[in-house]
Amino acid sequence: MLKLIVRLFLLLASLSTLGQEYDFLIRNGRVVDGTGNPWVYADVGITGDRITLVGHAPANATARRVIEAGGLVVAPGFIDMLEQSEWNLLIDKQAFSKLTQGITTGITGEGGSIAPQNEQTLADRRDFLQHYHLTVDWHDLDGYFSRLERQGAGINLGTYVGATQIRKYVLGSADRPPTAEELARMQQLVDEAMRQGAMGVSTSLIYAPAFYAKTDELIALAKVASKYGGIYASHIRNEGDREMQALDEAFRIGREANIPVEIWHLKVSGRQNWGKMGDVIAAIETARASGLDVTADQYPYIASGTSLGATIPPKYHEGGSEVFVNRLRDPQVRAVIRRELAGRDGGTENMWRGTGGPQGILVSSVLDPALKHYEGKTLAQIAGDEHKDPPDVLLDLVIAGKDHVGALYFTMSEDDVRYAMQQQFVSVGTDAGAVNVQGPLSESKTHPRAYGSFARILGRYVRDQHLLTLEQAIRKFSSLPAQRLGLRDRGILRPGTFADITIFDPATVNDTATLKTLTVLPSGSNTSSSTVFFRWSTARSPAGLGDDRCEGPGIKQVEIGSFDEAQNVAIPATCDFPTTAKREVWPRRRRG
Ligand SMILES: [Zn+2]
Repeated sequence: MLKLIVRLFLLLASLSTLGQEYDFLIRNGRVVDGTGNPWVYADVGITGDRITLVGHAPANATARRVIEAGGLVVAPGFIDMLEQSEWNLLIDKQAFSKLTQGITTGITGEGGSIAPQNEQTLADRRDFLQHYHLTVDWHDLDGYFSRLERQGAGINLGTYVGATQIRKYVLGSADRPPTAEELARMQQLVDEAMRQGAMGVSTSLIYAPAFYAKTDELIALAKVASKYGGIYASHIRNEGDREMQALDEAFRIGREANIPVEIWHLKVSGRQNWGKMGDVIAAIETARASGLDVTADQYPYIASGTSLGATIPPKYHEGGSEVFVNRLRDPQVRAVIRRELAGRDGGTENMWRGTGGPQGILVSSVLDPALKHYEGKTLAQIAGDEHKDPPDVLLDLVIAGKDHVGALYFTMSEDDVRYAMQQQFVSVGTDAGAVNVQGPLSESKTHPRAYGSFARILGRYVRDQHLLTLEQAIRKFSSLPAQRLGLRDRGILRPGTFADITIFDPATVNDTATLKTLTVLPSGSNTSSSTVFFRWSTARSPAGLGDDRCEGPGIKQVEIGSFDEAQNVAIPATCDFPTTAKREVWPRRRRG
């Protein structure tokens, strides 16, 4: 009863302070509600941080701000099923590249995660931290999120706890199984992270030291996440020649740990494997038919993106970055690596072979300013410029960049990408951290997926190629991931849900960044003034977080006006970026 009175009081208080029926009223939009249902014309009202109307608002309805959306699509804010912004948001809180493509919630923590941290987990981060003047003052997830909440962020953020993170925390970069005691400690750390709101436990098994973990170790950790209703999400051990075995491992973990499985950035990697997406989808469907809850996500590009060092087999990475880089100076080691690159997959994914060699690997980002001139060039081009043998270019660049070099790998076929996109259990993840067109996160080039993934699907695959309907695409961006993650009040536009909203023009939305040029242009927000994204971020507390210019209790608005391609700058937003990082009380939080 007291609760009800308090609620009533809050409701009346918010109404009386506002003196309006709604804080925001979006009129005459084509509402695509996220369920997959056909669009309808409707008005959307927002009060506080929630949607309070989806339907017809009388002509005399009042609001602090009315937005005429005539003709534009009004949809739930997009959920990025795998992004990588946990550090980026500490460097630049805006999350610009997310907001400009309609993303309001991002899920991160691929193998490595932002917590727990200790000396061992931070050992390979020193250059990075120094470069961006970052200090790490947290140990666990609670500590990280309170820092993020203090400083604010442009998107809601959720994270998995990484099995790699846990392994590094306890074992460092050693290539050995944990002792029984160490495994118990690792399980305890997963337990702690799950109680602090982790979405589940994750692996990224092509990288060291994740690669050193055997399946039993992963099952032991996944069992802990399962207790809290978590998910096992994985960059599987092989996306190339041994992809089917890698899928089997993920399925086994799902079965034996009794946990739902999410296959991250679903792909078929390596020219020699093109056309096998049908087999991959069939394997997932068979697993689902047998009762295993497995889903997947993807980014809509034929190039993958990761560190350049990932081209070199994981066994050479043992001991951490410094040891790894020094090892590459040894002529004997170099000779062996050279032979391995040229050979078939020897149990680990051979990205050199999969891309067809140095012309299929493109340097995208470096941390060291002295190496900037390599960005945007393929290893073949660099080899030509410097009259070097391509494998030497690879090894020397990893050494020179101290393993802080990012690369694109042209490793997939368009048909495989399209086939995966047509599956209703496949959602979307950019697999990229937030970047910006200005400030510290604009220093490097980046994979176009960072800016364009969602807009590319809406423009290229929905509007231009009719591969899927608008409603199907929006469902993949919203209610599908929300259901997967247990985000109860997000992902569908209906009264009562959080006011995470995206508005865009279906006629012009597009990704403008390209794989060839890596041009950094936000998609769907080019010069056309009708192409606008809005986003309403929610705040945990209904009071005290207001921004004068944005008005409304617990509500922040971001309006990315438009994008000036000639100047390569964003036209200023109406309001400041939200100052609250939003980590809502995820349903799984604090169960233990
Ligand atoms: Zn990955």
